[in-house]
Amino acid sequence: MQVPVIENVLKLNDEVAQINRSQLKQAGLFTLNLIGAPGCGKTALLTALTKKLADDLRIGVCVGDLATTRDADRLADSCAQVVQINTGKGCHLDANQVRQALSQMSLDQLDLLVIENVGNLICPVGFDLGQDVKIGMFSVSEGDDKAAKHPYIVTEASLLLLNKTDLLPYVPFDLQKFHDDVRRLNPDVPLLEVSVQADELDELIDWITQKVAATGAESAAAT
Ligand code: MG
Ligand code: ZN
Repeated sequence: MQVPVIENVLKLNDEVAQINRSQLKQAGLFTLNLIGAPGCGKTALLTALTKKLADDLRIGVCVGDLATTRDADRLADSCAQVVQINTGKGCHLDANQVRQALSQMSLDQLDLLVIENVGNLICPVGFDLGQDVKIGMFSVSEGDDKAAKHPYIVTEASLLLLNKTDLLPYVPFDLQKFHDDVRRLNPDVPLLEVSVQADELDELIDWITQKVAATGAESAAAT
């Protein structure tokens, strides 16, 4: 008997992600998929970032959580458009959930779309949502071993963030060890140290605004 083997379990997800990607590209949007553990500061970072960028960029956010609209509520003041995706028992966002969220948004009135994934450093990495880049986020309060223990996000990310660096004097965190682990796994990925509390976000803002400008120039050239 020939046993059927399903090799690409993500085939359907990847197909929907491609539909999202072409829709986002057509709208001239730069899209980032922010992935980090619960409590690493994703929403606090986005709240601070979107406040600083609100005069220059029209920002939309899709935020994934198992329950509540608390994150969307926090972001509503500083973002042009916010959609909360509640996943129930789901520990990651998939392309179809993002597809539904996009149908609630006016993409041609945005410059930047941020997808805040469900707090989790594991399976969100494997689900393509149609984003341009994945950003992996760690924080010093989680411990310096998290990059080594979660190699998939380190190798897949286009940018890594280490948040809460203002807490370094108060928590055991070997910065050199963390950097060494990151470099061993991904020699080239930019790694930015950020702090929402200490207002150290300038490098990240530069990185994002450059990407948004490049995407805008690309889509202007294509039309
Ligand atoms: Mg959050
Ligand atoms: Zn999951």
